[in-house]
Amino acid sequence: MPAAFLDLGPDEFRVWLDDHRQPGFRADQVRRWLFARRAGAWDDMTDLPKALRTQLADEFRLWTMQTVRHQQSEDGTEKLLIELADRGQIECVLLRDATRRTICISTQVGCAMGCVFCASGLNGVDRNLSTGEILEQALLLNRLLGPEERLSHVVVMGMGEPLANLDGLLPALNQISHPDGLAISARRITISTVGLPPAMRRLADQSGRYRLAVSLHAPDDELRNELVPVNRNIGLQSIMDEADHYFQVSGRRLTFEYVLLGGVNDSPRHARRLASLLAGREALLNVIPYNPVAGLPYQTPDETAQRAFGQIVRQAGIRVKFRHRKGEKIDAACGQLRRASFQQQNPEFPEGDSSGR
Ligand code: SAH
Repeated sequence: MPAAFLDLGPDEFRVWLDDHRQPGFRADQVRRWLFARRAGAWDDMTDLPKALRTQLADEFRLWTMQTVRHQQSEDGTEKLLIELADRGQIECVLLRDATRRTICISTQVGCAMGCVFCASGLNGVDRNLSTGEILEQALLLNRLLGPEERLSHVVVMGMGEPLANLDGLLPALNQISHPDGLAISARRITISTVGLPPAMRRLADQSGRYRLAVSLHAPDDELRNELVPVNRNIGLQSIMDEADHYFQVSGRRLTFEYVLLGGVNDSPRHARRLASLLAGREALLNVIPYNPVAGLPYQTPDETAQRAFGQIVRQAGIRVKFRHRKGEKIDAACGQLRRASFQQQNPEFPEGDSSGR
């Protein structure tokens, strides 16, 4: 099978051009077509010689994935269920609001972290995505935009744990942030992690320019060990230490995410403990009311409980934002669309069967 073009590093393509007696500026032309002009095929690149286009098409697959489902909701959210060349499935999302065009991309097929409330990890992880597969999601979503729309933000909050696939992710983000790439400034790119300390350190040292979001979901190890099983071998203290280090290196305010689960982590006591955990840090708390996953026993807290929780943390001096739910009707929470589709095709798996773990 021909090689995937997007898996080629920018320098590798220059070498290829050189080997094929093509001038180096062809690489810039192709980049422009892909990133700025949103080309959909080699043949769209009309200022490349026809012979070169044919040669490129013979040697490289420009796209490797197929959209198997495309859902649109009234609020402008578009969610894609994607099938990869090896038939693995991932999801990615385009979110629209008044001023922003945000894409949410995946880094792995499935997830190994095992957060008990999340649909993405219910069957564990299959594999890491390649750099090209991560980049291809961004280009695919970019092509959904209208001619006057421009991509403004990227969140790495789709399926998978981004910090378990830094090798795939960082070169992709390089191209997404590069002025000759998608030109999204690094401060508009957020990487969300369950909190893997050695990888947080590596990210700080290699690419501390992105925003980091840490998924907490609990104010102490006892509860976090239950909700986020990988925490048992890590512990909150080392995660907070690495988050502080990241802040020192990046100078960017940290985000902490907290999925609010009714009757589990949403009491006033939890709120107070969370506030003292975050106290003294330049931090934003992003509270995400649980987006129900069919078959899982968790519930979205009612409005009153949500408000009370937010108020307590706010009163302690922490900045709090509630993440508005978008695309709810189209299963836009991570992993839900893939799961719903899998269940339709495999009715012998009862909804919410988590026998995979
Ligand atoms: N693995 C990374 C990124 C993935 S998901 C991480 O853990 O941060 C991005 C956020 O969505 C995480 O905070 C995750 O816990 C949260 N999330 C997962 N399932 C959810 C659901 N059903 N409702 C609300 N938030 C959810």
